[in-house]
Amino acid sequence: MPLERFDPFRTLINEFNTKVGHVTQFSPIRGKRPIEHNNEETEEIIEHSPQDDSFCRVVKGELPAVVLSRDDKIIEHPLSVNSEKKNLEDSSAISIVNLFTPMARVLYDNTQQITSIKDKSVGIGIVHLLTKHYDILSEVPIIEVAKLLTTTQLVHRNSINELKERYKTDKLTTLHFFNIGEESGASICHLHSQTYIYANDIGHGWTSLGFLSVPGFHKELKKDEDYCLACEVANNKEKIVDPIEQELLVEERMVFENNEWVVLTAFSPERDGQLRLISKRHVSQFIDLDAKQLMGLAEALVNANKALDNFIKMANPSMNLLQDRNILFRQDNVGYSSGMHLMIDIIPIQRIGGAEIMETYRIATMFPEDVASIMRESLKETK
Ligand SMILES: [Zn+2]
Ligand SMILES: [Zn+2]
Repeated sequence: MPLERFDPFRTLINEFNTKVGHVTQFSPIRGKRPIEHNNEETEEIIEHSPQDDSFCRVVKGELPAVVLSRDDKIIEHPLSVNSEKKNLEDSSAISIVNLFTPMARVLYDNTQQITSIKDKSVGIGIVHLLTKHYDILSEVPIIEVAKLLTTTQLVHRNSINELKERYKTDKLTTLHFFNIGEESGASICHLHSQTYIYANDIGHGWTSLGFLSVPGFHKELKKDEDYCLACEVANNKEKIVDPIEQELLVEERMVFENNEWVVLTAFSPERDGQLRLISKRHVSQFIDLDAKQLMGLAEALVNANKALDNFIKMANPSMNLLQDRNILFRQDNVGYSSGMHLMIDIIPIQRIGGAEIMETYRIATMFPEDVASIMRESLKETK
């Protein structure tokens, strides 16, 4: 019997008394469907990509880049056009301007007369990378991941301040994510994350606005201004029932935990194997994480990625799960004060069909509790 679950962090009940949000349907029978494509070569071994990509060449000083930060130091202004060829190998992590973005960063003379930015796509696109070449997050030493997060946070803060000033706005949307592997949309194998900061209204889709609207809905339903479901989930392992009356099975979904973060399989996954990282202390935006939380996040990210690597290796081939994945930082928009709790989703690539594209709806094969149990065991073995 297929079952359905709503994502408790982005589901509300509207004026027609209907649940609106992301829903996953579980259909274990789907895992048994025949796959009738020719699976040519199923190469089990993950090959490392050659270290001659554009990012390696930027680091060696062979290609020019607008370098915004090196480790914990700001280098160029976020709206700078100074690109340089410079050897950057003595830094661990850097942020550079992304030249291929869906928004305009610098407005030249012919666009200066634009008076309203409301319907124009303006902002900053940034790439954050380690100077050493890695393909996947689970192979990076935790200290290097922490350095990547530190330089990322520094450039986020700096860029947000500059954009507020440049466009006289208090409201910005920050989209921060990793695309890991070709199928996830990465054009370069060298491990990197990206940030799009929009200074206009483009970029607020239903998904972001869903996450931002739900905390208010919860507070109203619970008649408690301080209520935060994510704080409860991250700190209270006992039986938690969410405001739309789903039992969240927190303990069963737990994969990894340290002093600052919990890593859980998502209750209502967008793809089989999805993980969700939740900070134990309430924070709404990535820029507000303190040094302890960043360090804890680095450790949680590496372990979560290892757990997912292991699960995908063991998963039934008919699940169509690839090692490629996206890591999405779900956070409050700048200037919104929605009360939303920062969370990070790690979502592997899995083929989906028409029904799932029509709606914010997925069909999953395995229950997250069973996925978590496999992941927990696999982490014990790889320690
Ligand atoms: Zn490289
Ligand atoms: Zn919270």
